[in-house]
Amino acid sequence: MKPSLTGIILEELADFLRERGAPSYRAKQITDWIYKKRVASFDAMTDLPNELRAELTAEFDTPKTEVVRVLGSKDTTQKFLFRLRDQNLIESVLIPASPALYGQPSDRRTICVSSQVGCAYGCKFCASGLEGWTRNLDAGEIVEQLIAVEEKSGEKIDNVVFMGMGEPLANLKNLLRAIRIINASWGLGIGARHITVSTSGLAPQIRELANESTQFRLALSLHGATDEVRGQIMPVNRRYPLKVLLEACDYYVAKKRRMMFEYILIAGVNDTDEQARELAKIARRLSAKINLIPYNTVEGLEWSRPSRARQKGFQSILRRHGVVATLRREKGHDIAAACGQLRLQTKQAERELRLSV
Ligand code: SF4
Repeated sequence: MKPSLTGIILEELADFLRERGAPSYRAKQITDWIYKKRVASFDAMTDLPNELRAELTAEFDTPKTEVVRVLGSKDTTQKFLFRLRDQNLIESVLIPASPALYGQPSDRRTICVSSQVGCAYGCKFCASGLEGWTRNLDAGEIVEQLIAVEEKSGEKIDNVVFMGMGEPLANLKNLLRAIRIINASWGLGIGARHITVSTSGLAPQIRELANESTQFRLALSLHGATDEVRGQIMPVNRRYPLKVLLEACDYYVAKKRRMMFEYILIAGVNDTDEQARELAKIARRLSAKINLIPYNTVEGLEWSRPSRARQKGFQSILRRHGVVATLRREKGHDIAAACGQLRLQTKQAERELRLSV
């Protein structure tokens, strides 16, 4: 398969042009067409010689990702379902203003993007893992989600979270390439402080990231403060139990990198006072902030969110132990905004349709 136009890196493009005897300024001209003017084919790059356009067309694939469904909710969170060139489905969520989302200022327009088709990690609260992993997205398919959502919504995105379908660190090479494009001034120009990668806790990759030059913020989905509780929610905890995971985090933080925790509050599962106290110990050890997220109901799963009083009680224990913890007001609850749900519903509907004809 040819590399995608929306996965092009300026420096690599300059090398490609040099090998063909084309002037180096063409590289910036081309990335401007792709990432600033947002054209979807080399034919539209009218200031390039025809011969060069033909060479680029032969070398790179043009975007084939298609938006097949858009759902908007009462609070204006919007969900986008994409069909990829191989007919697989992925989704992105646009969240307009989120005061409590990762502590960002309230005027940020956040996109939650997918990094894989499906997911192999099977976290028990998540629809994305219900049908397993299909394949990794390439960098172009990740970047295209931002470009297509901006075009469809008319919004300028200035905050990116890799918290959609897939485990981003299981697709590390493509993830880092996409982040380079999203962050670069010749690319989408979104600052590193406004790019957050969320992981279920792949300890070896967290160590690898400690030595990585690409900048972004790392969020660890903890969801349980002891192996017993975390293991019930996240099967990955069997492979990387808390001791192994937290040692990798120690290494990451020792390299002067900060991380934050996400903790989904599930009634009767991980919302006890004892879990709050254990969580506070872990957060203090790593100087990490905690983002508490009330559980989002997933069709087919039986868990529920704790009462607002219990959510606030959990938060206040953390605060009493000196930990900074925000409690997110759940957005998009009414449009199945938790990752993987829209895709799952669409796949089921397509299956039913096929059965009925
Ligand atoms: S939460 Fe993330 S890592 Fe866990 S199953 Fe869902 S997509 Fe995969």
